[in-house]
Amino acid sequence: MESHETKYSNSVEEDYDINQDQAAVTRRIQRLSLHLNPISEPPVSSDRLQLLTCAGRAKINVSDEQLAKYLRGKHRDIQERVYEYFNAKPDLQTPLEISKDEHRELCMRQLVGLVREAGIRPFKYVVEDPVKYFAVVEAVGSVDMSLGIKLGVQYSLWGGSVLNLGTKKHKDKYFEGIDNMDYPGCFAMTELHHGSNVQGLQTIATFDPLRDEFIIDTPNDGAIKWWIGNAAVHGKFATVFAKLMLPTHDTKGVSDMGVHAFIVPIRDMKTHEVLPGIEIHDCGHKVGLNGVDNGALKFRSVRIPRDNLLNRFGDVSRDGKYTSSLPSINKRFAATLGELVGGRVGLAYSSVGVLKIAVTIAVRYSLLRQQFGPPKQPEISILDYQSQQHKLMPMLASTYAFHFATSYLVEKYAEMKKSRDEELVSDVHTLSAGLKAYVTSYTAKSLSTCREACGGHGYAAVNRFGSLRNDHDIFQTFEGDNTVLLQQVAVYLLKQYKEKFQGGTLTVTWNYLRESMNTYLSQPNPVTSRWEGEDHLRNPNFQLDAFRYRTSRLLQSVAFRLRKHSKTLGGFGAWNRCLNHLLTLAESHIESVILAKFIEAVRSCPDVSSRAALKLVCDLYALDRIWNDIGTYRNVDYVAPNKAKAIHKLTEYLSFQVKNIAKELVDGFELPDHVTRAPIGMQAAEEAYSQYAQCSGF
Ligand SMILES: Cc1cc2nc3c(=O)[nH]c(=O)nc-3n(C[C@H](O)[C@H](O)[C@H](O)COP(=O)(O)OP(=O)(O)OC[C@H]3O[C@@H](n4cnc5c(N)ncnc54)[C@H](O)[C@@H]3O)c2cc1C
Repeated sequence: MESHETKYSNSVEEDYDINQDQAAVTRRIQRLSLHLNPISEPPVSSDRLQLLTCAGRAKINVSDEQLAKYLRGKHRDIQERVYEYFNAKPDLQTPLEISKDEHRELCMRQLVGLVREAGIRPFKYVVEDPVKYFAVVEAVGSVDMSLGIKLGVQYSLWGGSVLNLGTKKHKDKYFEGIDNMDYPGCFAMTELHHGSNVQGLQTIATFDPLRDEFIIDTPNDGAIKWWIGNAAVHGKFATVFAKLMLPTHDTKGVSDMGVHAFIVPIRDMKTHEVLPGIEIHDCGHKVGLNGVDNGALKFRSVRIPRDNLLNRFGDVSRDGKYTSSLPSINKRFAATLGELVGGRVGLAYSSVGVLKIAVTIAVRYSLLRQQFGPPKQPEISILDYQSQQHKLMPMLASTYAFHFATSYLVEKYAEMKKSRDEELVSDVHTLSAGLKAYVTSYTAKSLSTCREACGGHGYAAVNRFGSLRNDHDIFQTFEGDNTVLLQQVAVYLLKQYKEKFQGGTLTVTWNYLRESMNTYLSQPNPVTSRWEGEDHLRNPNFQLDAFRYRTSRLLQSVAFRLRKHSKTLGGFGAWNRCLNHLLTLAESHIESVILAKFIEAVRSCPDVSSRAALKLVCDLYALDRIWNDIGTYRNVDYVAPNKAKAIHKLTEYLSFQVKNIAKELVDGFELPDHVTRAPIGMQAAEEAYSQYAQCSGF
């Protein structure tokens, strides 16, 4: 067994020696009391202060250009076109202070300019190359998140519903208008009383065989379509989700065929007046994303031609007969929702884009900012404080991890769109739900941490954290609430678990469960649970094994609990009794997938120094996650006390090492200053303070 003491002699974990710890605490108190009351400074010998600063340690040599080359997606060129277009157009840049109404108009002009003037055609990319489309979504979102969402409403939601739920006649009729922004549209699913529970929505579409039309109605105020993007001001059409009612010859009069989607014109094409029978109100000023005009829609006997039913999964003939290739309402509903995962993929991907901006600003500022330091010596950079490293370095590592995981997701999504392979559909559905939930929750929390890490200057609106936080916050809720989405991941895991025990096969993403189930259901190995050497802890096999062990155990135990509780509480009650357990399981699985993708990305990196840097970052990601959940590992003796301690020490050491290349790591994201747009986060650190002071008129 290796001794970590020999490994880390002269490294930061020496601080963990209790005496040293106490000395460090005393020194900090002395420094702080000096700050508060300069007269009371006691003499402190300089040799005792050496451990305070981290500067000067050996660091990996890494080139940000090589890193950027490896990270860069194949559509970097189109992202640069987006950035340059807006950079050259001051009138299209969103000012810091802007009213809701002005922001909405600006956002519309930005979108129209992008499509008609800059020649970016997102709808074409949706069809021909979804990876390119997501690259545009990410770039546009970093210009103004409202613009990213408005673009997503137009092309992923309104356009996506026509493409994926309609048939050729719909594409022929609407494609061009959607593409060139002649037909701005909405996606009207959510109602006042029903958001996550889409199957509970109440808007109805009744077929009238006499006039060959559907009649759209809002039967009560709870069914008013709510939060509908593009509805309050700009939309001309809406894809309205409603229960399809067909006349029957029995006593019931109508038969409910389940939720279907219908194209409903909502404003006149020429005058832009709201059409008869439709009432539209504004959802008003929001916490963020005020460039998007969310509105509420109420329908009173609004007639639309039969052709406006988006009929890919179910159709109604001239004489009112219903046909579908799918046998039940539930199957049709699942197929309908399954086609809409593109929006979720876009949100996960863009959320990483937001995280990159926030981490870049926070890291650059933390390198620049100096506070305190040993007596009579220069002040030190705040990133030299262990606490600042602890706040930001695992976050920087996670940003890299998410970059590779969401890049994988968009590639898989594009592959699925081509092949329509059933296994791939199920994988992408679950992966997009899990990554959207996991990444957007992480980013939302990190935005607050980044603001706080930048102190008071982080609170200045010009330094971006406020708008990033407010605009991004809702990413956790729309396109599927995160808590609800994680449950979908848990459902799939349980399905896989059941199939495993019934002799079925497992799809690619879940393959690890096959081995895990066999290996991990036994007790942890008492010998390996004590291994604490650096080589072992930094071995990807150990790290992946730990992640997967946790998932497998959680899966096995929750399956057991569900079986037990369903006998007394029924299926719904048992699920609710185990809900937190199920959510932890889903997160654990997603973390396993993220780590696996990161490890693959490290292995595939062709440049030696970039590979070494990525390995360091990947190790930090893995060990920080394990440390955060150390209680679980300790509870089942997967990790013995000595190993837990070694993991903690190594995590702090890796944070410190990553800090040494933090500048190169954020430069690797290739975010120009006109995209980060925060004076304190400028690439040329020497100009940051003066640029910032200029914003206040100096
Ligand atoms: C700015 C904005 C833009 C939007 N744009 C659109 C749009 O263009 N078109 C559209 O159709 N919709 C849109 N929406 C609506 C959005 O999709 C819904 O808000 C979202 O689906 C969540 O539904 P809800 O608000 O009803 O939340 P609820 O479902 O009421 O959830 C509230 C809370 O209850 C919890 N909860 C709910 N169900 C469960 C459960 N089963 N288990 C555990 N916890 C649960 C959730 O976790 C959440 O914390 C938009 C919303 C906003 C705010």
